[in-house]
Amino acid sequence: MTQPVSSTDQVATQTVADTQAHSDFTQLGLIPELLETLKLLSYTKPTAIQSHIIPAVLDGKDVLGGAKTGSGKTAAFALPIIQKLAKASPRKAGGNFVSCLVLVPTRELAQQVADSFMRYSQLIKPNLKTLAVYGGVSTNVQMQSLRGGADIVVATPGRLIDLISSNALKLDNTTTLVLDEADRMLSLGFTEELNELLAKLPKTKQTLLFSATFPEEVRELTDSLLNNPVEVQLQSSE
Ligand code: ADP
Ligand code: MG
Repeated sequence: MTQPVSSTDQVATQTVADTQAHSDFTQLGLIPELLETLKLLSYTKPTAIQSHIIPAVLDGKDVLGGAKTGSGKTAAFALPIIQKLAKASPRKAGGNFVSCLVLVPTRELAQQVADSFMRYSQLIKPNLKTLAVYGGVSTNVQMQSLRGGADIVVATPGRLIDLISSNALKLDNTTTLVLDEADRMLSLGFTEELNELLAKLPKTKQTLLFSATFPEEVRELTDSLLNNPVEVQLQSSE
């Protein structure tokens, strides 16, 4: 079911009524290591949002995803990102570069999303380096862990800015940006930090934005940030 219902007409919106585009993980273009991992985790079939978003991310598209909590958004972005990083040439050693940056509103979510990346990439060789970066804990320890960079950094905006200011981390080579729970990030007052970070990222990158709600300020952010995105809105059946 595809309906062009969007604020800007170059955006292709897919409103998904809790139905899957594909009912099997093997139809989504995932590599064998990831299919094996999903078996280990007893994920028998993709959720609706996963079946629409995984192929779009693998295809290099920007994505705008709207769905309530518990719809499986983390795997929807983490699985294809892991696959792309596994296939890319290894990160250049030496700099404190980060290939994929995931911004989240809270430290709990940072840890949770980083744990998911590690769980989903457990069979990928060589191992991908995933770090969670958030405030309230020692900056020194995080600076140490960031030596030599990371494949994936999951961060809250404030601490990330501190670490960039002290050169512990650089966003110049970042190829993928994810904003998870964008509405919460803005309602918690991270607008200024977010804009500061967006200005430091390369212009050319793949951007994925997830939000449960789309108030005006989220719309403004998506309009300025996303480039011709695939928009997947999951209609809740309640
Ligand atoms: P959201 O970010 O949309 O709130 P999460 O990504 O946190 O959702 O996923 C919610 C829960 O569902 C997690 O415990 C996750 O492990 C589980 N989950 C995600 N996808 C699947 C799947 N395809 N099959 C079974 N469980 C899944
Ligand atoms: Mg989530």
